[in-house]
Amino acid sequence: MGEQNEYTRTNIVEMEDGSFEEIIEDQSSLKSSVQAEFKAKMLEEEQKEQEVENRKEKAVIILSGGMDSGTLLFDLKRKYNVFAITFDYGQKHRKEIFAAKALCLKTKPKTPHQVMNLSGLRGLLKNSSSLLNNSIKVPDGHYEDETMKSTVVPNRNMIMLSIAIGYAIDLGAKKVFYAAHSGDHAIYPDCRPVFVYQMQKVASVCHYDPVEVHAPYLNFNKADILRIGYKLKVPYEHTWTCYNGRVRACGKCGSCQERLEAFDEIGLEDPLEYETD
Ligand SMILES: [Zn+2]
Repeated sequence: MGEQNEYTRTNIVEMEDGSFEEIIEDQSSLKSSVQAEFKAKMLEEEQKEQEVENRKEKAVIILSGGMDSGTLLFDLKRKYNVFAITFDYGQKHRKEIFAAKALCLKTKPKTPHQVMNLSGLRGLLKNSSSLLNNSIKVPDGHYEDETMKSTVVPNRNMIMLSIAIGYAIDLGAKKVFYAAHSGDHAIYPDCRPVFVYQMQKVASVCHYDPVEVHAPYLNFNKADILRIGYKLKVPYEHTWTCYNGRVRACGKCGSCQERLEAFDEIGLEDPLEYETD
């Protein structure tokens, strides 16, 4: 690891198929022997990091690609051998899936990442949520406003947790993490403490061995999460929070507003570009 030099500049680049890859910059300017030596060094370093990782306890994280689960990913990497799962549930803001991929590439070592295709939910739940239905506009306004209820996807976290618990059992992991926090409690029933406790109960009896469900940020607000993330140097420029999946974040939806308020509260500038800039 250590200091970056002219040979170690990397960049996350969106590929033609929509996936994200970490590209080493300036390769063309390097002599092939230097390139080969550098690649071998990188590989050796990655293998060492992976060996350390393999000795840690396995854990699964539900990673949306937003700033809360992005912070939790970097938080967990300190202690666990983390496996990330992201859900494509037909959301308008599919851009967050690419953010999740980029975040997994940015951790040391890189985090194994599964994208689960549940895009059929878009048709199945189309009457319920402005996140799934193009004819229902994502409301502007504050997160706690009544209008934000249209952004609820029915039972989303139970659907995702059920699959993540199955994935954990398959991996031999005993813990599943997700980043529900206190700012979600007002409108999202499946982010409230009572939901988490009941999920913990059912996860403990759904298979031969119990699986634990953890929501370590349950009593934190978004500013608390940001404070943790800044200490961990989470690359927030690679997170995506906006419910409108446009080129730039809208700055007006409840999700954007809550994010911007959190950055304001801790006195830092959000590295994302906004339509309102
Ligand atoms: Zn927005």
